Amino acid sequence: MRDTSGPPGAKMLDPVCGMIVDLADSRDHGLTLEMDDREYAFCGPGCMKSFAKAPHQFRAKVDAWVAAQKH
Ligand SMILES: [Zn+2]
Repeated sequence: MRDTSGPPGAKMLDPVCGMIVDLADSRDHGLTLEMDDREYAFCGPGCMKSFAKAPHQFRAKVDAWVAAQKH
């Protein structure tokens, strides 16, 4: 299991609408989902619901975004 606590101020891509959200902020609002050893974060409940319905449609977007952050 990966440590999902991360550094303070860690950002995450909301793959549904493309917004960059603050991971800690999303957690505070209950807008994160843990799946496949990764924590997904969303700007709002609407995006989280869309993701939960069809996560396979959005995973690749997050993969690409996370990879791009690690130059
Ligand atoms: Zn969103």
